[in-house]
Amino acid sequence: MRLKDKVAIVTGSSMGIGEAIAKRYAAEGAKVAVNYFKSPDAADSVVKSIQDAGGNAKAYKADVSKIAEIEKFAADVINDFGQVDILVNNAGVFRTVPVMETTEEIWDEQLDLNLKGYFFFVKTLVPHWREIGGGKVVSISSIAGTGGFPNCPAYCASKGGVVNMTRALAAELGVENINVNSIAPGNVATPLNAHVRGPGSEEYVELMKTFTPTGIAFLDPEDMTGTAVFLASDDAKLIHGETIIVDGGWSVW
Ligand code: NAD
Repeated sequence: MRLKDKVAIVTGSSMGIGEAIAKRYAAEGAKVAVNYFKSPDAADSVVKSIQDAGGNAKAYKADVSKIAEIEKFAADVINDFGQVDILVNNAGVFRTVPVMETTEEIWDEQLDLNLKGYFFFVKTLVPHWREIGGGKVVSISSIAGTGGFPNCPAYCASKGGVVNMTRALAAELGVENINVNSIAPGNVATPLNAHVRGPGSEEYVELMKTFTPTGIAFLDPEDMTGTAVFLASDDAKLIHGETIIVDGGWSVW
């Protein structure tokens, strides 16, 4: 077990990549704060599945685009589990909207959750990490943060922001034994993109297969979990400000 007795917060972990990371962290011995915004039943089912497997988890409702809710969520977890060792900034929203249809509301929704929320969750935990002697941040960015894609400028801005904010936070916090790193997934089969994988999307899925040298159109959420465990473990204690791309090879050409 590589995260034995650590306490981890995984934002947006009632489904998708967050759910997979929460379950894997629990299997590696961590106590996990499962966060949801609108889906209490889904969060309860993640908690139950962790508990059924012998793990320790609890569900917390919080809109992690809001600073006050982040602060209450962090305080509740520290109160319940005694400390927080690992923060996975995972909750995110992706809107496919071309430039001329991008309203201020669409921009703010994605930047508030995908970037501002990530920053303020780290800021909230820094005083606690100073008290306990260190911490780990694993933020989920995207290959839409390492390259540009059409029809999602706000999303690309938010994820590119995560990649460089990761470097900036690492530059400032590394000296305090706080590791800040990021994972940039390619296409991963989650509810976020279910609308482009279902019936009628066969042509699109075939096209996506040609985008990776591995021929994989959509990775599984579980494919992200090994990197998430590594970055939260002592094996990565000297890795700072890094973004590890996990995309089935999309970015090699
Ligand atoms: P998903 O839609 O399956 O899950 C997103 C989670 O975030 C859900 O649990 C949702 O309830 C939660 N959430 C949304 N708004 C929230 C809020 N305000 N407060 C708290 N929780 C909130 O998406 P996913 O594909 O699992 O995405 C997880 C992360 O991975 C996101 O940051 C996403 O941008 C990133 N990502 C996904 C892909 C992909 O192909 N699926 C690729 C690259 C990056």
